[in-house]
Amino acid sequence: MKVLKFGGTSVGTPESIKEVAKIVANIEGDKIVVLSAMSQTTNVLHKITDAIAASQFDEAKSIVDALWSKYKIVVRDLYQNESLQKQAGALIDERFDFIKSYAHDGSLAVMDGVEKIIVAQGEILSTNMFAMYLEEINENARLLSAFDFMRIDAAGEPDVDFITDSMGAIVAANPQTNIFVTQGYICLNHEGDIDNLKRGGSDYSASLIGAAITAEEIQIWTDIDGMHNNDPRYVDNTFSLKEISFDEAAELAYFGAKILHPQSVIPAKEKNVPVLLKDTFNPVSAGTIIRNCPVPNGVRAIAAKDGITAIKIKSYRMLMAYGFLNKIFTVFEKYNTAIDMVTTSEVAVSLTIDNNERLQDIITELEDIGSVQVDSDLTIVCLAGDFSQKQSGASTEIFNSMSDIPIRMISYGGSNYNVSLLIKSEDKIRTLRALNIGVFAEKD
Ligand code: ADP
Ligand code: ASP
Ligand code: MG
Repeated sequence: MKVLKFGGTSVGTPESIKEVAKIVANIEGDKIVVLSAMSQTTNVLHKITDAIAASQFDEAKSIVDALWSKYKIVVRDLYQNESLQKQAGALIDERFDFIKSYAHDGSLAVMDGVEKIIVAQGEILSTNMFAMYLEEINENARLLSAFDFMRIDAAGEPDVDFITDSMGAIVAANPQTNIFVTQGYICLNHEGDIDNLKRGGSDYSASLIGAAITAEEIQIWTDIDGMHNNDPRYVDNTFSLKEISFDEAAELAYFGAKILHPQSVIPAKEKNVPVLLKDTFNPVSAGTIIRNCPVPNGVRAIAAKDGITAIKIKSYRMLMAYGFLNKIFTVFEKYNTAIDMVTTSEVAVSLTIDNNERLQDIITELEDIGSVQVDSDLTIVCLAGDFSQKQSGASTEIFNSMSDIPIRMISYGGSNYNVSLLIKSEDKIRTLRALNIGVFAEKD
């Protein structure tokens, strides 16, 4: 069994949905197809929930109507078969009426739940429409509701045992089914309410499903031909990597390579299920295979993660006493805030976080331990590769490239596979470009 995930752009127009159906039909063997919402839908659904939260109900309704009209055109262009066209028309009417039913005062009392319900509609729409299109081309598929198997626990983490048991039972109960279609991104929480795996979460759904059934392969189909060596949104002349290890891919995803949701490599890595990244719009290109493989020496790829806050804690004593680090880390643990980078000097510790929700509480407690300085609007630039060989020269290339860009923190040696640099976000693009020239120029 293979898991095939198609992102928002891949299912973004009637033409691309037809392409996706062709790709699915041409892949041999049994498969579980995981779909995102059509591109921009989740953003628009968020605008609707924002308008409801701001009590702008007319505005919310008019955004619903505009999106609804777009879906009517998709339905008109996607199906030839009249009865399927009617069925799909009825589906979208029902879903958009349902969304609109929340555009009134009473919704505000339970806004978090309403927001999750509304943003879940994008994947519900795309999967239903896709399953109907498969029917039109005489491919037999079974539509599964992600709410029957995708669940997160009280800490917001995937409930892997539940997912594994439920997916196993579903597959076992349907031995005749060759194509399952289901929603990425959406799930239930431990209380049984609708929730999601955060933005870009369909990759995570695919990986969790692939791990749950120990799939032969997980394929992530998107709008680019695999993992590039640098962020193609900011840097020209990037290139697709043929093969990368799970560890490299996990680092790149976590540190901002948007092609993969930050956590999405972990379930696949744990079950050793290879992940193939493929381009829906250029299916013959090889893409990138992520699997257990040796990591070549030197820098392989660069990614950047914005929205970073650095916190420096200076000990009130002249020298750091033992127990100082422990006291600091305990504060972050208490407020469930993960630390990305850490550096220490004789008298101070600097560390970074990407979640500011509890920042004020954290600062207040840290001030009992030492003096605290906070810097925001920072970016971590992550260089992934193998830095274990002394002769690699990678550090010289990295620092020469950065000669006129101030670096706030450096993390080197935490693992053999990552060097991280903390810079001001305003310097991100020139950093990525400078590193691209300095680190990759002679090699391509
Ligand atoms: P999907 O909707 O299919 O999930 P995404 O937009 O989430 O697609 O991810 C694909 C995009 O990721 C690409 O179009 C590209 O701009 C961006 N991206 C950022 N960094 C990288 C990288 N290192 N390699 C490839 N794509 C990247
Ligand atoms: N539709 C969701 C989003 O836009 C999930 C995804 O596309 O992966 O974030
Ligand atoms: Mg994505």
